[in-house]
Amino acid sequence: MIVCVKQIPDPALPGELDPSTNTLKREGKLILDESDSYGVEMALQLVAAAGDGEVSLVSMAPNDEVSGIRTALAMGAAQAVLVSDPTLAGADALTTAKVLAAATKKLDSADLIIAGTESSDGYTGTVPEQMAEILGLPSITFAKTIEITDGTLKVNRQTEAGYDEVSCPLPAVVSVTAGVVEPRYPSFKGIMSAKKKPVETVTAADLGVESVSWAQQIVSVEDAPVREAGEIIEDEGESFNKIVEFLDELKVI
Ligand SMILES: Cc1cc2nc3c(=O)[nH]c(=O)nc-3n(C[C@H](O)[C@H](O)[C@H](O)COP(=O)(O)OP(=O)(O)OC[C@H]3O[C@@H](n4cnc5c(N)ncnc54)[C@H](O)[C@@H]3O)c2cc1C
Repeated sequence: MIVCVKQIPDPALPGELDPSTNTLKREGKLILDESDSYGVEMALQLVAAAGDGEVSLVSMAPNDEVSGIRTALAMGAAQAVLVSDPTLAGADALTTAKVLAAATKKLDSADLIIAGTESSDGYTGTVPEQMAEILGLPSITFAKTIEITDGTLKVNRQTEAGYDEVSCPLPAVVSVTAGVVEPRYPSFKGIMSAKKKPVETVTAADLGVESVSWAQQIVSVEDAPVREAGEIIEDEGESFNKIVEFLDELKVI
């Protein structure tokens, strides 16, 4: 298995924009994107269920940053490839997909490449599918459950109405939704062994990925509108009607 792990600025801390490029500052310690902790856990469980195999990681991050990778290695992944290159600063989703697809080639070919449905900071939700296209592999998105039997991937794919049962032959790319599994907490032993696990750091040039001309230019940034206060409903015994009306208007019932 190969799992894509994004390392992001800690969402608990206020994000900062680089005024010269209007892109998110990604200096200092980055953490494992929570969206990807589900992918790592899912991969570890699938390898355990198969009784053999291993989980490797690919990540693209600035400043040779490995903190988020070490967390995933402490969970049980075996090794990682980190793509770190100043020429990739501010890269768009297609560039990221090209880089990650090339990084998977540095590892033994995988039966399954797992990613999150969307990251917590950029959340274009497009990288896994673009990777699949670049690698010429089938991709299934929004996986709630994953089963592998005799070289076939079976997925319950989350939909608004419930889920679809989708299957395809391996190798493939699958994106998992948040909450599909309970990510394990790295044990002390896991954290210590993660320090010794191999992380190969490469540049875009090492991967033969052309440094790209930017498809995206962020021309202006403005604060998000302040959310208006909601309506307060005093319950005099009939307020459920108001709530039903409200939900009906939203077409969620
Ligand atoms: C606020 C903001 C807005 C942006 N808007 C756009 C935009 O409109 N168009 C555009 O092309 N780019 C945009 N970007 C840039 C984009 O976020 C980056 O290119 C990013 O590296 C990849 O896209 P994503 O985070 O949207 O990935 P998503 O497709 O949302 O991520 C899905 C999964 O892909 C994997 N993945 C994504 N990035 C990495 C990585 N660096 N390393 C390892 N795995 C990864 C992870 O498993 C992740 O869970 C934006 C960035 C920010 C911060």
